[in-house]
Amino acid sequence: MDITSSNPSPDLTFMGVDREKIPWWPTIDLQDCDGCSGDYDCLKFCPHGVYKPLENSSRIAVENPYNCVVFCQACKKMCPKNAISFPSKRAILDLIKNERAK
Ligand code: SF4
Ligand code: SF4
Repeated sequence: MDITSSNPSPDLTFMGVDREKIPWWPTIDLQDCDGCSGDYDCLKFCPHGVYKPLENSSRIAVENPYNCVVFCQACKKMCPKNAISFPSKRAILDLIKNERAK
């Protein structure tokens, strides 16, 4: 079975700000991630091609960070190891406001 993630095109802007100026994506704690013993629950769950298995490893990597939907955290709930975290929503909202004010 091919579990390599697809890579759909990400949205180019969010709230009028270039997506690449918004640092919102999952961070994986590689101490805790065990690749779901090869099942990669987060990769299978996310439809946006953010994740990719690490080569020669039973862990996952964030391959396409800007494909992540800003403020989505849905995959975090899927992780049995609680290995997925996100930035502060408040900090990202402030960043977006600052960018919009430029
Ligand atoms: S769901 Fe959690 S444990 Fe499973 S591959 Fe993703 S980060 Fe790793
Ligand atoms: S937060 Fe949402 S869009 Fe981002 S990687 Fe997780 S499921 Fe995919």
